[in-house]
Amino acid sequence: MKGLYENEMKLEFFSKSNNEAFARITVAAFAAQLDPTIEELADIKTAVSEAVTNCIIHGYENTEGMIKIIAKIFANTIEIEISDSGKGIENVEIARKPLYTSKPNLERSGMGFTIMESFMDEVHIESVLGLGTKVTMKKVIEKMPSLDEVAQEERDSLCSVN
Ligand code: ATP
Ligand code: MG
Repeated sequence: MKGLYENEMKLEFFSKSNNEAFARITVAAFAAQLDPTIEELADIKTAVSEAVTNCIIHGYENTEGMIKIIAKIFANTIEIEISDSGKGIENVEIARKPLYTSKPNLERSGMGFTIMESFMDEVHIESVLGLGTKVTMKKVIEKMPSLDEVAQEERDSLCSVN
């Protein structure tokens, strides 16, 4: 069993649509040190992409502002905080409902928060009108035993039988 592992990174970038891919790939590279499966990594990328896209199109409504990401690793959990200083959300309870969108004319499906909730273990939304929005998400990365560890366990159990 490894000791408690802690790490942290911060990222700040302009609310340009090109930066959505930059943010998702950077957070995935940071998360890689937890040895996630391909699926777990894809879940994290999708959740980051939804949160960053929301900052760009809703928070700043295509004007320019800064988006901040803080990612922390505690033991086998990654916590990702994504915030903007944009217009804020009037009613978070309503905003996080499946299919709710304030921009139906822009072909939005209102599924961003629902996707974040289904791919991550926890999603918290804090928002103040006129000040901005912060989304904090957590995901536990289950450790799969390595082949060496499995082989060692088999040897141990054989020894205890003899
Ligand atoms: P989709 O994500 O499916 O394209 P959507 O972005 O409208 O559609 P959600 O991501 O679930 O759906 O967000 C729901 C609503 O919450 C948005 O329509 C918007 O009104 C509000 N919202 C979400 N993020 C922000 C933000 N960072 N700043 C301001 N409003 C936000
Ligand atoms: Mg969205």
